[in-house]
Amino acid sequence: MTAGDNLFGRLLGRTSAMPADTPVANLTGLQLQLDHLGRVVTINGTLRSQLASHLGGDARPLLRELLCASSALSVEGSPADWQRQGLDLDFRGAADQVLHTRGWVEPDGDHWTLRLVDVSDLLAGRQLAGHREQNHQLSSQMSEQLRVCTLSRLPDVLNEHLASLAQRWRIPCVAMALLDEDDQGWRIYGQYTAHDAPALWQAGQRLGTGLDSVNGNVPLSLAQGRSDNPRLQSVFGNADGFLVPYRDGQGIAAWLLCGVYSTQSQTSERDWLNLTAALAAPLLGRLREQRHHQQLERVEALQGLLGTGWWELLPATQEIQLAPQLQRSLSQDDGATRQPLSLWLELIHPADRQELNSRLQDLQALGKPLLTSVRLQRSDADHNPIWYRVQGQVLGVGDSRRWIGFMLDISDIKNQQLQAAAAHARLDNLIASSPAVIYVQRYVSGALHPAFFSDSLLPLLGWTLADCDHAGLASLIHPDDRDLYFERTRQLLREGSVRSRYRVRDKQGNYHWLLDEAKLLRDDLGLPVEAVGLWLDVTDATLAAEQVKQSEERYRILVEDSPAMICRYQPDLTLTFGNTPLANYLECLPAQLPGLNLGHWLSDEQRQAFVQRISQLSVEFPVSTAEISLQLPGREHAWWVWSDRGVFDEHGALVEVQAVGRDNTEVRRSQQQLTQSAKMATLGEMATGLAHEINQPLNVMRMAIVNVLKRLSNGDAQIDYLTEKLQRIDAQVQRAARVVDHMRVFGRRSEIERHPFDPAQAVEGTLSLLSEGLKGKGVEVRLTPADFSVQVIGYADQLEQVLINLMVNARDALLSQREKQPDLRPWIAVHTEHDSRHVRIWVEDNGGGIDPRLLERIFEPFFTTKPIGVGTGLGLSVSYGIVENMGGRLSVSNGKDGAQFCVELPVVGS
Ligand code: ADP
Repeated sequence: MTAGDNLFGRLLGRTSAMPADTPVANLTGLQLQLDHLGRVVTINGTLRSQLASHLGGDARPLLRELLCASSALSVEGSPADWQRQGLDLDFRGAADQVLHTRGWVEPDGDHWTLRLVDVSDLLAGRQLAGHREQNHQLSSQMSEQLRVCTLSRLPDVLNEHLASLAQRWRIPCVAMALLDEDDQGWRIYGQYTAHDAPALWQAGQRLGTGLDSVNGNVPLSLAQGRSDNPRLQSVFGNADGFLVPYRDGQGIAAWLLCGVYSTQSQTSERDWLNLTAALAAPLLGRLREQRHHQQLERVEALQGLLGTGWWELLPATQEIQLAPQLQRSLSQDDGATRQPLSLWLELIHPADRQELNSRLQDLQALGKPLLTSVRLQRSDADHNPIWYRVQGQVLGVGDSRRWIGFMLDISDIKNQQLQAAAAHARLDNLIASSPAVIYVQRYVSGALHPAFFSDSLLPLLGWTLADCDHAGLASLIHPDDRDLYFERTRQLLREGSVRSRYRVRDKQGNYHWLLDEAKLLRDDLGLPVEAVGLWLDVTDATLAAEQVKQSEERYRILVEDSPAMICRYQPDLTLTFGNTPLANYLECLPAQLPGLNLGHWLSDEQRQAFVQRISQLSVEFPVSTAEISLQLPGREHAWWVWSDRGVFDEHGALVEVQAVGRDNTEVRRSQQQLTQSAKMATLGEMATGLAHEINQPLNVMRMAIVNVLKRLSNGDAQIDYLTEKLQRIDAQVQRAARVVDHMRVFGRRSEIERHPFDPAQAVEGTLSLLSEGLKGKGVEVRLTPADFSVQVIGYADQLEQVLINLMVNARDALLSQREKQPDLRPWIAVHTEHDSRHVRIWVEDNGGGIDPRLLERIFEPFFTTKPIGVGTGLGLSVSYGIVENMGGRLSVSNGKDGAQFCVELPVVGS
């Protein structure tokens, strides 16, 4: 009987008691003799030595006292009760182990014999099978879960499995390492660390290539400090380790790492390999699936973005299959991706269709790779065409041949290309037709050699590049300008850019002024490579500028030499320029004039009037002339006739004034003298009238005095009478004094400044001088006093002079008329009227008027109809000047009875 049979037999005996006659070797197994109470009498057999307690002395321990607690229960009661049943008894071993036995009890006289065999190995086998079964179940469960979970939960599910693995085998650290996608070595994909264990690994941690060198034939156990592979120390640190490989077609694809652990379990290597495979295989499968999916998404997204997509020819059915995106972008509908080839060709522009078709045939028949660009047929011709690049090739050989390619939207590039080409052509055209020459000069050891000229060189100068080479160009430059040209080259090399102007000879021998602008281009090291520049023909402009300069010079001389004062000044009267005559008047040098203010030499009033006048200049009426009076340094008053012309900007605002002035002081003085002498003449003329004017009060006084004296001599001179007479004399003295006073005032020279005054004041003054005299001559003065008050500007004494002239003339005309017509009752009427702008003083008489033929001449100087020595012929002409000076008008007409003179003056403030 073999040991296996023996074992089998033992297993069979599990349910029935062994036959009584079974020979049992006395010394095998274990035989215990028991008394009827179940107390052990003797122990025999080979296993005896393994028991924890041996019998000694008289003590008879109960059988159950030798057993482990688990099997003590099956031997309750007495041995008689245990007959005919199999007994599984676990004895406590001497080395604290458990001795698994199986057997039966049989009567042995008045004792009982318990016969047992060792079944430890049998149990262990069963246990192992159970473990295996469990492991298998766990594996398939884990596999299944990893296969079906969603991709996003994959890491979590793996970690859960690693955790249950760790707990089942009591492993402190478990991790799954996978080959990195980018082949950079191994990387922890998931891990579990018990809470009291050192953290050996983290998810995502890189392990390098240390694991590559491990022989992956079997699970490998590493005891601390015994690793013959030092590189593994970087993976496990100094901890004990255990690692299990998973291999697929390409070699080891995953490692299960168990840290701080060395396997002592009953789990076999094969089980570990299976377990690891159960985790790694589905995990890697899912990850591959994920990568594939992502790749597909990327490709689709890329195709969508690029406006590209694959196509495949299906020659058997004369069809073509397109990527869905491509199909969409080509025909804008979601039609079938598979369609007849002819339908697809319809989408291509007729101009490109045939070529594409023939190339497709070449691809099929000859295997010739296809590469072409085609336009799409579009209904809206307004838009830029859509261009596709079509590329194709043959894949595989024989029956597995496939014709595959892609289409790529290149409209942007193509249209840009076309636009760039058009722009380039336009630019070329422009350069060729412009008066500019573009040139390139190459840098050759410190010199610049002409290397290119644009086509415009020939029409401009008549030369070609060959004529203008390095040596030739210098000879074409005007001899006077050659230094300029060489300096230009030096500056260009030194500073990187230059702008200069020199003359170049053309083929006809004429010189052109060229404006040269050049820039130096350098390479990456900063060394000069070439100069790019531009020649602009500026001959006309240069000559014109020359002419302008010359004419400006001429004008400058003219202005400087002019006897007139010429200047420019800003609207605030600040001088910007003045010539020598002006500077002489203002007693400085011409250079000192700019910045000085003209107003400095004007009185406040003059300045205001000046500024007011300038402010009225406009684009329509840019010129104004006036006589201004100035107080010049160290001189009397100067009178300048001053003509201003405004210069305006594009908005019509005054920017500057150009002025020409002439000194009018002398003229003005003689005019003044003339006025004065006329005035004195008037006074002289009035002498008779004045004598009368003074005689009158003298007569009254004489009469009063004669009467008083008469009374005094009669002796009846009462006080009241005397007082009355003395008062009358006093009044007459005052009257005479007024006349004399006024004469003195009138005889004085006019003041310099004009003042506002009421013209009625002049009328009154005139009458105070004349009325008595006129009355004495029998001329009635009809005065209509003004019932209004207005102001005019000028000199009251001069207006008075005018009125005296008019009235004296009227008087003369009346007196000579009375000689012819003794019954004439002569009168002079004076009345005043006004409107919003003017005041008019009328002086009329009934002296018969002026001969109409003379009317036009009476204002001429020295025109008189009076006898020599009587008339001066100046009265009216001086009067005319005075009224005009005040901005007014003196006019004459013949009325019903005689002459009608009118002095019209502007009213101030109107
Ligand atoms: P004069 O009085 O010295 O002659 P005027 O210039 O004052 O010089 O006058 C010029 C001339 O105008 C006079 O000679 C006279 O003929 C004429 N005249 C002026 N006023 C009158 C008037 N009221 N009626 C008629 N003639 C006049």
